[in-house]
Amino acid sequence: MKKDLLDFTLEEITHEISALGWPKFRSTQIFRWLYVGVKDFMEMTNLSKGDREELQNKYSIMNLTLIKKQESREDETAKFLFQLSDGEMIESVFMKYKHGNSACLSTQVGCAMACSFCASGQEGLVRNLSTGEMVDQILSMSRLQSERISHVVLMGSGEPLQNLGNVVKLMKIINDKEGLNISLRHVTLSTCGLIPEIRELASFKLPINLAISLHASNDDTRRRLMPVSRGYLITELINVCDEYASVTGRRVTYEYALIKGVNDSIADMQQLAKLLRGKLCHVNLIPINPVEGSNYQATNKAHLIDLTRVLLKEGIVSTVRRELGSDIDAACGQLKRRTLKDY
Ligand code: SAH
Repeated sequence: MKKDLLDFTLEEITHEISALGWPKFRSTQIFRWLYVGVKDFMEMTNLSKGDREELQNKYSIMNLTLIKKQESREDETAKFLFQLSDGEMIESVFMKYKHGNSACLSTQVGCAMACSFCASGQEGLVRNLSTGEMVDQILSMSRLQSERISHVVLMGSGEPLQNLGNVVKLMKIINDKEGLNISLRHVTLSTCGLIPEIRELASFKLPINLAISLHASNDDTRRRLMPVSRGYLITELINVCDEYASVTGRRVTYEYALIKGVNDSIADMQQLAKLLRGKLCHVNLIPINPVEGSNYQATNKAHLIDLTRVLLKEGIVSTVRRELGSDIDAACGQLKRRTLKDY
């Protein structure tokens, strides 16, 4: 199989180019073409025809196949079903906000985490996505919407920290000034809380925002909801997040999906406040979204407001996440490895 140029940072393309015996500046020329969205080497018109042919013989340029696009009637969210070259399918979401456009990317086909409230893990993990498959979710959505994407959230299907090598490369690529020039301060990586991998991520010192899928304030409830948390204690998780915040200077967000009668009592919030008191962090409360095959119900609005008051009284800043795209199953926890039959 040919090597794919969307898997490479500019530095790596420079290595490839010098191996061909070409002058170094060619790599920047090629990189720029890739990130204006060119998929055909013949369109790289500042290279000679011979050079373009040589590239075409040696390399490919990832190009996801759009299978289906759904637009929300309630907001300007669009969900895309893309097919990968091995036939697998992934979903990605485009969201329009006042502060810019955001791409929600999948990092794996399926997910191994098996959280009881989430659709992404219902069929287990199939495989990691390559860097190019993640990069092209941004390029494809930007092209299909005719919009620049300024923010990226790794909150689609999959656990990004299980695909850390490719995710770190993705960060280098999207941040490159010669390419998409996306500020890493506008990137959020969400994880269900793999402690060793959070430490490893911190060691790269990337200024990306970390979001933790906490969803409970005591270990018993968390273990029931999220099997992956059985190996970790909440207090250990919060400690490693403090390390992350001090190494990167970025605030940590704790995501808490509220499930009626399971994790949404006043006592649950008081316990959460106790865990987070005095920390550089933020709590995102999300009324749980309906997912096929699970009977959980969302906390009602009035109770939700009471819960935010409990946190506020303890000095914890929280927001209630606006649910974009839930009418098209594009909201948190609703993305999965679909087939056309599901549409
Ligand atoms: N695996 C990573 C990335 C997925 S992000 C992680 O767990 O963080 C998707 C976010 O949506 C996570 O915070 C996840 O816990 C949350 N989520 C999953 N199912 C949900 C549901 N039914 N309603 C609301 N949020 C949900």
